[in-house]
Amino acid sequence: MKLRIGHLYPEAMNLYGDRGNILALLQRARWRGIAATVIPIGLGEPFDPAAVDLVFAGGDQDREQRLVAADLVGAKGEAIRAAIEQGMPALVVCGSYQLFGRYYQPASGPAIPGVGVFDLVTKHPGAEVTRCVGNLAVDWEGYLLVGFENHGGRTYLGPGVQPLGRVVAGYGNNGQDGFEGARYRNAFGTYLHGALLPKNPRLADELIRLALAYRGQEVELPPLDDAIEEQARQVALARALSERHAQQNVGATRRQHPRRPRS
Ligand code: GLN
Repeated sequence: MKLRIGHLYPEAMNLYGDRGNILALLQRARWRGIAATVIPIGLGEPFDPAAVDLVFAGGDQDREQRLVAADLVGAKGEAIRAAIEQGMPALVVCGSYQLFGRYYQPASGPAIPGVGVFDLVTKHPGAEVTRCVGNLAVDWEGYLLVGFENHGGRTYLGPGVQPLGRVVAGYGNNGQDGFEGARYRNAFGTYLHGALLPKNPRLADELIRLALAYRGQEVELPPLDDAIEEQARQVALARALSERHAQQNVGATRRQHPRRPRS
């Protein structure tokens, strides 16, 4: 068996160690004897849907997002969208997640057009508004995904769009509706940096399984010893939950002792 991972914009979209997701996919496949390789697909390079079995893209700031959006306009973005429509698995994080929606409106400048894989839009409320920063925990089908988030944009899912999961701790898509990320067919969009997959092996294995199945290899992946991964996940989860409690305490204190106007 083989697993060919298409790494979209490895240079332009690699914030907060998102490349660690590629390493997790590679290693968890190789530990099972699957011949895993990475195919970098950078700015100006064509996307060949026959050459890869899943795609990954990381996060980055508005400037890089504009460069990538310009590269995705036209045939390349359309080819990626068509592959996902046919079931190709994808994991896109933060800035790439935003670009896989319909558009991202940054704090300044014109809106940045997206690929339109997800029926969602992202709007930055303005540089003076608090960014969504901190540890993040998300209930994905009963499994708690952990990581951290750092984004100014707020993402709003279209009607009927499936979120990745429900926020347990942190902001998530917009800090209001309680949802995080998006799922369409086998494409997963999320704000979870971390890197995400090393600490969330169940999602890593699901992506590998989906990629093999996409190429007609329906397999049951043999379990791995995930003691270290699980330890890392529990540490990250404890951090996220303690932050949530701290924020709740601050909120409760403010409600109990509202600031008195200066006399
Ligand atoms: N520039 C986007 C935002 O601030 C995405 C940031 C990121 O990828 N961490 O919302």
